[in-house]
This record gives sequence, structure tokens and C-alpha cells, in this order.
Amino acid sequence: MIPYGHHQITEADIDAVVAILRSDCLTQGPTVPRFECAVAACCGARHAIAVNSATSALHLACLGLGLGPDDVLWTVPNTFVASANCARYCGAGVDFVDIDADTWNMDVHALRAKLVAARRDGQLPTVVVPVHFGGQPTDQEEIWDLARQFGFKVLEDASHSIGASRNGERVGSCRWSDAVVFSFHPVKTITTGEGGMVMTNDEELAWRVATLRSHGITRDAVRMQCPPEGPWHYEQLELGYNYRMTDLAAALGLSQLERLDERVACRNALARRYDGLLSALPVALPSIRRGNTSAFHLYVIRLRPNAAQRTQRDVFEALRHRDIGTTLHYRPVHLQPYYRKLGFTPGMYSQAEAYAREAITLPLYPALTESDQDTVVEAVREALA
Ligand SMILES: *Cc1c(COP(=O)(O)O)cnc(C)c1O
Repeated sequence: MIPYGHHQITEADIDAVVAILRSDCLTQGPTVPRFECAVAACCGARHAIAVNSATSALHLACLGLGLGPDDVLWTVPNTFVASANCARYCGAGVDFVDIDADTWNMDVHALRAKLVAARRDGQLPTVVVPVHFGGQPTDQEEIWDLARQFGFKVLEDASHSIGASRNGERVGSCRWSDAVVFSFHPVKTITTGEGGMVMTNDEELAWRVATLRSHGITRDAVRMQCPPEGPWHYEQLELGYNYRMTDLAAALGLSQLERLDERVACRNALARRYDGLLSALPVALPSIRRGNTSAFHLYVIRLRPNAAQRTQRDVFEALRHRDIGTTLHYRPVHLQPYYRKLGFTPGMYSQAEAYAREAITLPLYPALTESDQDTVVEAVREALA
């Protein structure tokens, strides 16, 4: 079986986690702050707040950015459901912006047109969540310009793109956004088992997210509202959660982070090799914009009309028949039953819907061998013959 993705754990990773098991702090020790500092330094951001998943990170970032029941968050249909669900956790509404036909990321022209219409109707979004699909950075300078013009906050869902860069700027630096979220789920580029992180250069937002991560409790004298009753004194200032990352998870993350650049380079080399092997077939290949380095979390191809009139389903079945793991990233979020109940219908986002009828994710992970790749490409070629 060749899976579509697979985590990679080294002996050094195992030793790092075992060392925590033998230490005094399984959680709330020194390792989470060390991991946060390391990721902040790696990306060039001022603050990093580790949590137990990217879903939690999106939730807390939305709360920190002030998203509430009177607000609306916009994201793309071509993403994992968590990019939209974070708004619903805050009681806010969700709306979508269609994707670009080539990059499969948020289409900035569609965003601008929708903003103009929304301003006319008095329904501008509070937060916009561009998603770095497959590991390719979004058109952040343009989105940031629109944010200044129309007055919304920008939260990048970079769950696919730690290790990627745009115009020399590491994803996660928050150069063109208010905050960036990473995922450390095992299918992602580096893992903590489950885990996520909020990156920001905004000190107040960082404080708010860090407080909400742990019940809304503070021990910071400057923030307290009552005179301290003693050295045990802490205050719960608002309703927070237990979204903390453990030191066990952070130790794994710190160890994995050391190989981030090597992994991204390896994924890029495999992607280039796929590009070469697939170039003669009737498929569209990932299109990486000039100035972008993708993290290549995913390698997706898109079927073009072909002489044998093969469909996406034909190719899926042919690959699965050969024990090759393949899937669709993503069934458009607005067509999920939960979002259909909120009023979304087929036909609303034609690019994302057309994409979803033609896209196929091929296996890509650092341990994928050239011979595995040849097997995958041969299976695709045969399915299209
Ligand atoms: C994986 C993923 C998430 C959620 O990540 P978790 O860490 O599993 O909560 C959110 N958004 C996107 C785009 C993802 O791929």
C-alpha cells in the first residue's frame, strides 16, 4: 500500500519524548515555551502560542480578533471544514470566496468584487481566512492591501504551509496578516501528534490567545482586577478553554522542527519529479506562482478533458485498485450537509465546484521512493489510456 501521506518519526524524536517522560513536567513545563520560541524564530514572528490543534488555534485567533455573533468570517470552499467552523464556534456567520482556477487558492479578484458588494450592502466581513492550499502561500500582499482598504482582519490558515515562503518572507512571519495558524497533525509537514500554533506580531492578541488557551486565567499582576489576596492568587478574566499543548507534544515538535527545511526540500524535489513524469498526460499540474516556495503538503492533479473520456472516479478507482492511497482535497465546504442547512447551495462557487470534480491527490511524503512514484504515475497513465 502506498498511502497519500505519512508522518516521519526519527530515533531523535523518540529520545526527545522519552526525556520528557522521565522529567518532572509532562505538561505546563519549560518545553512548550521552548517550542514556541523556536517556531517564532524560525518564521520571524514576535509571538507564537502553542495549542492542542490548529482547530483550537483558529478558534482562539478568531476570538482574539474580536469575532462575535454579529460578525461574519469569509474563507474559501476549497479547505478543511475547520477553516470555516472556527467562525461558528464564536457564534459568527460564514461566507465563502471562490478560488483561483490555477493556484486553487483564494481568488483576489473574487475577494475584491465581493468586498465592494458587501460594503454597498453594509455586510463587510470582520475576519478573512485565506488558506495556503497544498502548501502554496496565498496572494498575501494583495489581501493585506484589501484589509487596509475595507477594514477587516486577516487570519492565514497555514496548516499546509509551515516551511513555505513568499517573496523571501517565511510563512508565519505575519508580514501581511494579523495572525497565522499552523497544524501539527501527523499528516502535516511536522507533527506533535495533535497540535497547532497561533503566530502574531500583535502583543495584545498574543496575550489574549495565551489566556484563552488556559481557561481565561491570568497570574499577571498588571492584568488583575482585584487586589492580590496572597501568593496563590490568580484570576479568571473571561471564559476560556483548556486548549494547552503538552510538553510531550512540544518535545516532539521541537525535534521535528530541526528537519523542517530538509523535509520541505525533499517534498519539492518529489513534486518536481512528478511534474516531469506527468507532463505528457491530460492533467493540470500544481501551478506555483513566481516568488512562492510551496511546502508541498499535497500534490494535486486536475483532470483535463481526455481522449478516453476518463473521469475523476475512474482514476480514483484505478489507483485504489492498485493499493495507491488517493483522496480528494477538498469537497467544497459549502456543500457539506451542515453548511447546506445554513443556506449554501451548489452553483454558488463555480471554480471550487469544478475543481472538486477534477482534482486527485497523489501520494507525497518524504519516505516516498522514486519507484513508488513511478508506480503511481504508471497507474495514472493506464487509467487515462
Ligand atoms: C489540518 C487542517 C486544519 C485542522 O488542523 P488540526 O490540527 O487537525 O485541528 C485546519 N485547516 C486546514 C486547511 C487543515 O488542512
